[in-house]
Amino acid sequence: MAFDLDQDARAVQQEARAVAALVAPFAAEADECSRVHEPTLEVLRASGLCSLLVPAAYGGRHERVDPLSVCVAREALMRASSHLDSLFALQGIGSYAIAAAGTHEQREEWLPRVARAEVLAALALTEPVAGSDLRAVQTALVDRGGELELSGVKSFISNAGAAGFYTTIAKEGDRFSLVLVPADAPGVSVEPSPEIIAPHVLGEVSFDRVRLPADARLGEPGAGFRHVLATLSVFRISVAGAAVGLMDGALACAARHASAREQFGRPLVRLGPVAGLLADSWAELESSRLLAYATAEAAREDPSAHLDRSSLAKLAATEAACRVVDRCVQVMGRWGLVRGSDIERYYRQARPMRIYEGASEVLRLGIAARLCDDMAGAKGGR
Ligand SMILES: Cc1cc2nc3c(=O)[nH]c(=O)nc-3n(C[C@H](O)[C@H](O)[C@H](O)COP(=O)(O)OP(=O)(O)OC[C@H]3O[C@@H](n4cnc5c(N)ncnc54)[C@H](O)[C@@H]3O)c2cc1C
Repeated sequence: MAFDLDQDARAVQQEARAVAALVAPFAAEADECSRVHEPTLEVLRASGLCSLLVPAAYGGRHERVDPLSVCVAREALMRASSHLDSLFALQGIGSYAIAAAGTHEQREEWLPRVARAEVLAALALTEPVAGSDLRAVQTALVDRGGELELSGVKSFISNAGAAGFYTTIAKEGDRFSLVLVPADAPGVSVEPSPEIIAPHVLGEVSFDRVRLPADARLGEPGAGFRHVLATLSVFRISVAGAAVGLMDGALACAARHASAREQFGRPLVRLGPVAGLLADSWAELESSRLLAYATAEAAREDPSAHLDRSSLAKLAATEAACRVVDRCVQVMGRWGLVRGSDIERYYRQARPMRIYEGASEVLRLGIAARLCDDMAGAKGGR
């Protein structure tokens, strides 16, 4: 389906497809890992693709992180391997606030290494009691006469144990601040999180009276959520891109199967209900892709102005991905259920996408409020 990707985005797409092709032979192994799969990281590192996730002044590719490039890259990477996609995306998710709000020294210290994937990044928001409701965060940041002290526990943190730093939200008085915590700071420890249906590098990160310099904050005291939302406004769109890649891969499996296998004397694709499953899935794939690309394109200038649209693209694509992959399994009958097959992997990998980076129900609240505001504004203008 044609979307008028510019030359730069098309080049990124080709580049990401080439990286995906290098990982494809061992993707099934990588995607079963809940620790970093070194061969996958090596390919990603050698590719230079992570330079897409950092501004040019600090070793990145574009002047600012370009949401459309990240979106098309994740589409290609996720189609091959969720582990590859996650390693790539986390470099941006964990470092975006450093680029947006860090001091020159913080940027110089971390971003060039993030761009080269020499150091892995992490964003630590979630806690045992604080999931969607991040205002329930209990991790505390206290100013002890010029030095900061951080105490608390973060839960289900991607790249935990492998990351070089944790961009961490903490309660400071009655407000919330972001701090940059080096993983080797005394008092930082990591335990594995429970294994989930689609393995992922996840851990529980404890901060036990971690001492940090006063300039470890990212941005002003109390400005934490502003920078988290800025991160999400870029990277939620890219989850939509990843969901599109997953749908594309799943639908390719189902289409191949429906063409090759015959029942009742004809290929499955010629049996009406099976054709319906395929056609509905293709429609959802193409509409999700168009929405993702259009949203990413619109966000290129000012991502923060497009947070609700970014949520909309993520909601549409991740909900569609679960429907599509379920239909694809159905098309493939018992072959859709075989452990270790591509389609089974996609089936498991689609599910967490509706939960992380904004669960669907929570996104709907913001989206519906925006809809009503926009509609009320439009009526008032008539
Ligand atoms: C693979 C994976 C990777 C992750 N990586 C990270 C990471 O790197 N960093 C990080 O900080 N976190 C990470 N998380 C955690 C993730 O961000 C949370 O799981 C997510 O925010 C949802 O929180 P929760 O799981 O506690 O669900 P809850 O917030 O407890 O929600 C449970 C259910 O209630 C619904 N719900 C909650 N509030 C409302 C509401 N107001 N209105 C309507 N419905 C509501 C939700 O939609 C959901 O259906 C990761 C999770 C996964 C699965």
